[in-house]
Amino acid sequence: MRRPFIAGNWKMHGSRAQNAELIEGLLLGLPGQVPVDIAVCPPNVYLWEVGRLLKDSIVKLGAQSCCAESIGAFTGEASAAMLKDVGCTYVIVGHSERRTIYREDDALVARKFLAAQAQGLIPILCVGETLEEREKGQTMQVVSRQLKAVLDVAAPGALQQAVLAYEPVWAIGTGKNATPEQAQAVHAHIRAEVAARDANIAARLQVLYGGSVKAGNAKEIFAMPDVDGGLIGGASLKADEFLKICAAA
Ligand code: PGA
Repeated sequence: MRRPFIAGNWKMHGSRAQNAELIEGLLLGLPGQVPVDIAVCPPNVYLWEVGRLLKDSIVKLGAQSCCAESIGAFTGEASAAMLKDVGCTYVIVGHSERRTIYREDDALVARKFLAAQAQGLIPILCVGETLEEREKGQTMQVVSRQLKAVLDVAAPGALQQAVLAYEPVWAIGTGKNATPEQAQAVHAHIRAEVAARDANIAARLQVLYGGSVKAGNAKEIFAMPDVDGGLIGGASLKADEFLKICAAA
């Protein structure tokens, strides 16, 4: 009953020329209809142009972050309304690089989630533990805390219009993916936490895995019952690799 979803997080990569080549490759490789939701999340500065390149294709546009505030003196930021205005359907919130490098805490991530939904964007909320937290046996606790921070402030039905992504920090950009069993255990935990509040929403919620997914490991990870696709970093920058990952879903 859940459609798989593959989202490409380009991070700070690309140029106008590279983006055009990547999108051309993706669109050439995708038939008109596929049983998978697909999105790409380019840097903000390229959103509008990539959106034009995607035209009416099945590939949706997403941003990598948004400001928690709606308007005003926030130098360097882009509001959720602006992202919506340039054609975004999705926005990633709480990516571990934002949490770590830009010190975004659970409370700020929750405000970004609300700001995104208030504009009709679908937030892709990322949660995940560091290697140290995993080694201390704190994985479920950390993921629960990150999730609770959002669920406590969001409206009861908020996850009807949201996507979750489990991204173990130690697996991101390291080439060291979680095993399918490790991913499944955390995904099942996340779904159970959501089910404790609303079983229907939990059953429909797309929960993505992210962290060193590539064409070679996608199928076995996506085969897990609670893994509904992936948030793909490095492997989303090459059309053929990204298409193979979409096919694996
Ligand atoms: P990766 O990144 O696929 O390059 O590990 C995933 C992410 O950070 O979303």
